[in-house]
Amino acid sequence: MSDRRLAILKEMGLAPVWRLKRKTEAPATEESDWIRLEREVPACTACALHTSRTQTVLGVGDREADWLLVGEAPGAEEDRLGEPFVGQAGRLLDNMLAAIGLARGENVYIANVLKCRPPGNRNPEPGEVDRCTPFLLRQIALIQPKIIVAMGRFAAQTLLGSDATIASLRGRVHRYAGVPLVVTYHPAYLLRNLPDKAKAWSDLLLARRTVAGG
Ligand code: URA
Repeated sequence: MSDRRLAILKEMGLAPVWRLKRKTEAPATEESDWIRLEREVPACTACALHTSRTQTVLGVGDREADWLLVGEAPGAEEDRLGEPFVGQAGRLLDNMLAAIGLARGENVYIANVLKCRPPGNRNPEPGEVDRCTPFLLRQIALIQPKIIVAMGRFAAQTLLGSDATIASLRGRVHRYAGVPLVVTYHPAYLLRNLPDKAKAWSDLLLARRTVAGG
């Protein structure tokens, strides 16, 4: 395990558990941590969302990406297809990525706070966020991104442990377990509030400057 990854895990309070699990649960045939996630997430029954999901949505993209984008939870299309941000909000996200020279899957990984769709696209409940967040934290530790872009209130508040508004959190670089983190509006919000697209654009430029300088 690299020093950087160990530092991230320690800061998240996961390092001893992680190491113990690997020692006790991954004997002769070294199972990668990604493979464990791919097995554990679809089997998860930690909250009631497992009863209504079609499938879990772990994430998509380059697992060694510099950029990690975090949204809220799968919607109807994502639940059907098993990939994050494939609906209308996803198309906007892809366009925004293209505008800064990025593409889904190329140096970018996209994940959500929740891996299961809340019925009727309601907001995630605190208990669901609490139970699901450890999966996201493990993804962050594995990817070791250079920047995390938290899209929307749930991603920002979950990762920053804050109940502040997006408006008050955006415009500066935060840190999550040592990784620079920029807060921006959720693409679904931008579809309803077109004038705020300019602010989201400046958030992405801040993120790009942060990656370039880091
Ligand atoms: N909204 C999200 O937050 N995530 C998705 O995957 C799709 C829509």
